[in-house]
Amino acid sequence: MNTENPSFNRRQTLWQAIQDGDKNWDMVIVGGGIIGAGILREAARRGLKALLVEQRDFAWGTSSRSSKMVHGGLRYIAQGDIRLTRHSLSERERLIVEAPGLIERMGYYFTLRKGQFPGRFLFSVLLSLYDALAGIRNHRYFNKAAVEKHFPGLNCQGLKGAVYYTDTVTDDARLVLRVLQSAIEAGGLAMNYVRADSLIREGGSVCGVRISDVEGGGQLEIRSKSVINATGAWADRLRNEINPEVRVRPLRGSHLVIPMHRLPVADALTLLHPVDKRPVFIFPWEGSTVIGTTDLDHKEDIDAEPGISVEELNYLLAVVEALFPEHGIGRDDVISSYSGVRPVICSDKSRDPSKERRDHAVWSDEGLVTVAGGKLTTFRLIALDAIAAATPNLGNLASREPTDTVFPEPRISAGGLNTADKKWAQRLIGRYGDCAKPLLYEASDAERRKIGSTEFCLAECRWAARNESVIHLDDLLLRRTRLGSLLERGGEALFPVLEEICEEELGWDGTRWQGEVARYRDIWHSHYYLPDDRA
Ligand SMILES: Cc1cc2nc3c(=O)[nH]c(=O)nc-3n(C[C@H](O)[C@H](O)[C@H](O)COP(=O)(O)OP(=O)(O)OC[C@H]3O[C@@H](n4cnc5c(N)ncnc54)[C@H](O)[C@@H]3O)c2cc1C
Repeated sequence: MNTENPSFNRRQTLWQAIQDGDKNWDMVIVGGGIIGAGILREAARRGLKALLVEQRDFAWGTSSRSSKMVHGGLRYIAQGDIRLTRHSLSERERLIVEAPGLIERMGYYFTLRKGQFPGRFLFSVLLSLYDALAGIRNHRYFNKAAVEKHFPGLNCQGLKGAVYYTDTVTDDARLVLRVLQSAIEAGGLAMNYVRADSLIREGGSVCGVRISDVEGGGQLEIRSKSVINATGAWADRLRNEINPEVRVRPLRGSHLVIPMHRLPVADALTLLHPVDKRPVFIFPWEGSTVIGTTDLDHKEDIDAEPGISVEELNYLLAVVEALFPEHGIGRDDVISSYSGVRPVICSDKSRDPSKERRDHAVWSDEGLVTVAGGKLTTFRLIALDAIAAATPNLGNLASREPTDTVFPEPRISAGGLNTADKKWAQRLIGRYGDCAKPLLYEASDAERRKIGSTEFCLAECRWAARNESVIHLDDLLLRRTRLGSLLERGGEALFPVLEEICEEELGWDGTRWQGEVARYRDIWHSHYYLPDDRA
């Protein structure tokens, strides 16, 4: 390991501080996805001494591989789950207000064809309720001609029209990072590439975890009043040290990313898949078009990165072929793919995956609190439930109920950033909060330019390398930015300029860079591209 690497040295300093410092923690959170990040934030705001450890990169798990929607979930209301829908909608509305530029309202058109169920009337009833629960009134109906005009090239055979409603779109990995940033500002500590190996138990109760530094080596025993297992699809593993029950059903969902110019959509299109009538989405995201998702049991090793199968690829391409036959979209148009594993709470393994409930669950076993399931959207509520479950171990500490917002209001506004593009300025503030200002001010003109058809710029890469615990090239291209998913061939055209940035900010020499490129290419080809390439 290159000890000249400043980022690595920062980690070492942090690791050393944990090793040498006061060993008595109030809370250790295992898992650096949206749920772990949300819990760290709640804990830190209550003044708890809290540490989060993530075995890979922050958001490496499901939280960077979702459908990118902070949404109420129309299908939950259709399944009669009013409680989950209401909670999701109120969180959605709160986040739209608190983090504009990161969570943006988006229009959704659900196409209706002759003989399709539900039809216009039932949809209108559902959408009236959906809007009412959110306290808005955005839904309406568009006739065939209007839909045809809005989505040029759409197959209009049998089309009657579309019901329109709004939800949102986000960058899920950046949402995790923004929540972590907020948690760290409140005094929390978070380390990526640190694994919780096992629980420490004394007198029949959990009193800490053994952790290891996956990158630098070294192991530590951390004593803590409470331990929270927020490991998503891995939740059973840590819990099974105490309780053999298997409750998480890993369900895989995959997406395809297509260049916007090949499949231009101005809003999200929701339709029932021609084969199995499951709802699927085609939506604009970060200058590209995304198609998803699938829903099937994930039988592969959960420690390996998930990837799309040939069957899923064909299933998703079939949607576009049926819907936009004139576009002639095929596998050669796919820029990238991604797959995530839903940590769904299992009710009955024989049940159709799409019919499993998407609610979360919290279990307490000998003082270990395990939280799994749920959604990106409801992370704050899930975190509150986890904190409540840990309260018996924390006494008065956890009951302090801060009333502030998820994201403190930034001190800067879009008008205060030195760019004429106010929408872009808001985007940066949504993603980086107050750090958007130094990010832009410290950047050269060349690095402030948007890359290709994306909204990302090299200044964000430099900022992330300097400030956001980047350990590997894939952290930078797949999670701090999404350039690896949005640019041809995983963004390899940027390698020369990224090599310079990584040398300057991370101290990577030529050998380290070559190693990182080889690692990144392997990950990208095996898990973020087409399935045949895996060979
Ligand atoms: C295809 C798909 C689409 C989705 N779309 C949406 C959507 O549009 N909107 C929405 O609201 N929700 C959506 N979801 C659901 C949402 O993404 C998940 O519920 C959420 O991301 C789960 O977050 P998490 O923190 O529980 O898990 P994760 O994000 O998986 O985080 C758990 C982390 O724990 C780490 N970990 C595991 N074991 C250890 C250990 N021993 N030590 C340290 N770290 C460990 C893992 O590396 C992982 O990073 C979707 C899910 C999928 C799969």
